Amino acid sequence: MKAAVLREYGGKLSVEELTLRAPGPNEVHVHLAACGVCHSDLSVQQGIMPIPVPCVLGHEGAGTIVEVGRAVTNVKEGDHVIMAPIAPCRTCFFCLRGQPTLCERGFDHMFTAYAHAGNEPIGPGLGPAAFGEETIVPASSVVPIDASFPIEIAALIGCGVVTGVGSVVNSAKVPAGATVAVIGCGGVGLASIQAARMSGASQIIAVDRAAERLGHATDSGATDTVDASSGDAVAAVRELTDGRGVDYSFEVVGLSATISQAYEMARRGGTVTIVGAGAFDDMVSFSAAQLMVDARTVRGCVFGSTDPLRDFPRIVRWQERGLLDLERLVTRRIGLDDIDEAFGEMLAGLGARSVIVF
Ligand SMILES: [Zn+2]
Ligand SMILES: [Zn+2]
Repeated sequence: MKAAVLREYGGKLSVEELTLRAPGPNEVHVHLAACGVCHSDLSVQQGIMPIPVPCVLGHEGAGTIVEVGRAVTNVKEGDHVIMAPIAPCRTCFFCLRGQPTLCERGFDHMFTAYAHAGNEPIGPGLGPAAFGEETIVPASSVVPIDASFPIEIAALIGCGVVTGVGSVVNSAKVPAGATVAVIGCGGVGLASIQAARMSGASQIIAVDRAAERLGHATDSGATDTVDASSGDAVAAVRELTDGRGVDYSFEVVGLSATISQAYEMARRGGTVTIVGAGAFDDMVSFSAAQLMVDARTVRGCVFGSTDPLRDFPRIVRWQERGLLDLERLVTRRIGLDDIDEAFGEMLAGLGARSVIVF
């Protein structure tokens, strides 16, 4: 099978012929149908996220089950599935407290080779190794869906959509009537905006540096837009909210500068949710007095605080009912050879999601 291999940080992906190993007792073999290109793939390619190479990236995939290990009971051959980057163990401290995104063993599979190039073992990158035609993943990382559901949209649910939607409905729990600001309007930010609209937010302010993305944000439900490439974005958001700031702000970029802005955009007593994946050495500072006096809540949110078993099916239903409009997030359909171009577009702040169609 063909897959796009990352051999060194900063290098281009090379499409190579790989041989899959057989699935273990609790693993499944998936034939990929589609995979979104996510910013975390780019972060690994750039060496910001230290994942062992050589590996195959791609962690926003959906496809069909080809074969299951002998202990697998949750899916069977022929099922359409969404793949999650995490494989919750369901027995650790965090899983038992309803926080499977923090599972102590949820990422173990990322460090075991799933395929070979000749004699050379190839790692599965961020887990699903979905930048390839076939993959082997833990059964606990896949969620079956109805075969009639569009598979390209299903792929996006696996990371970007569940992260954005989950940040609003699981982490912040935005109530009807709330005011919201979202900094960063790529695929994840647009999913947050759509979820805020679905939750009945009365005002949704989209903040980005790219005019094209602000257009997508309006189409996804933003009531106001702020072009952060010119002028003071915090002042603009304050001006749109009678000088107070919003009830809920979301940072979907992953930079200390935009996290500080998200903090300043939230009203006194408001909630700041950090969704973007930043660098480990990028420090954010707050005034100790202001943190106390303004009584804001600052919270991190990894992978939309999701439980894939609960959230993937309900996001599918929200899409089927027209409450979400996920088709809009696909701004480009590409082949395996075009991933580097998709990375370039992402670096330039263009488009929402590029989706590889196999
Ligand atoms: Zn992702
Ligand atoms: Zn666990």
